[in-house]
Amino acid sequence: MRGHKEAASRMKPPAFDYILADSVDSAVAALAAAGGDAKILAGGQSLVPMLNFRLLKPSVLVDINRIPGLASIEDAGDAIRVGALTRHHKLETSPLIAQHFPVLACAMTHVAHLAIRNRGSIGGSLSHADPAAELPMLALLLDAALTIASPKGRRTLAARDFFIDALTVDLAADEVVTEITLPKLPPSTGWGFEEVARRSGDFALAAVAATVTVADGRITEARIAMTGVAPTPRRVDEAEDMLVGKVLSPGALNGTIASVRAAAEPATDLHASADFRRHLVGVLAGRALRAAWRRACGDAP
Ligand SMILES: Cc1cc2nc3c(=O)[nH]c(=O)nc-3n(C[C@H](O)[C@H](O)[C@H](O)COP(=O)(O)OP(=O)(O)OC[C@H]3O[C@@H](n4cnc5c(N)ncnc54)[C@H](O)[C@@H]3O)c2cc1C
Repeated sequence: MRGHKEAASRMKPPAFDYILADSVDSAVAALAAAGGDAKILAGGQSLVPMLNFRLLKPSVLVDINRIPGLASIEDAGDAIRVGALTRHHKLETSPLIAQHFPVLACAMTHVAHLAIRNRGSIGGSLSHADPAAELPMLALLLDAALTIASPKGRRTLAARDFFIDALTVDLAADEVVTEITLPKLPPSTGWGFEEVARRSGDFALAAVAATVTVADGRITEARIAMTGVAPTPRRVDEAEDMLVGKVLSPGALNGTIASVRAAAEPATDLHASADFRRHLVGVLAGRALRAAWRRACGDAP
């Protein structure tokens, strides 16, 4: 025991017990047995830094990396089902994702650097819920649903109901996100993704993802999601509604941009002022919507 303590004092993170789960049920059982004092280890790209800074001190880490079947991307007819352990890089390079959600593939190239994207997982990013992360914004944009396992069974939750506050989601200590379901988009849907970060690979100062669906030259559905400008990612329902039935004229776009800025609740920090972020998110929304409109009209690849 003395040796254990001495070794622990030489480690950057606090001492913890380690459990390698071989199934979702065993992971859930291990979480429940720890009585709220365990953390899941997925890619470790957010968890390990938090342990090293001693911002978290779980007594147990439950490693889900060896659970079979948790990292697949499957076509389920009207939706694509993505396992929670699917790495960012796989989302970036998957032919199925490129075919059905090019906006998601594009967004992944903005997440950190390749080494981090090789390990970071979609379930980890959604559960960690960094206020400037790309995947939570994409989950909102694409009307994703999360499948969550617990000792009581399985539940499904819309991404809209999952994100509560910065780094806070609707997930109990004994629950594991197992799958993310992405409903396919309607035909004639274009997309746009715009982000500004201080350096390539940094978290976004602000980012916007948008889709526009067009029939007979008019918008039948618009979706706008933003990140980096509020404690959680946001869908901008009012701005989306304003576009339905319209062409993307400069007038329509100006009203939408104003609505996006009004919905933002940015903070001032070391990297940018709240005013700058509010201005920026409007500019990015305009660019993302114009790109989505051009693609929906067949004027851009
Ligand atoms: C230098 C650096 C730069 C980065 N830049 C960006 C960036 O620009 N954009 C961005 O979005 N992210 C960025 N990240 C974060 C990266 O995307 C992480 O991989 C991601 O946020 C967490 O995924 P993970 O699989 O590593 O999760 P982990 O670090 O293993 O876990 C994160 C949290 O989620 C919980 N968790 C993990 N999986 C599950 C699950 N299946 N069910 C329930 N809870 C779970 C863990 O217990 C933990 O609390 C960066 C990270 C680093 C180190």
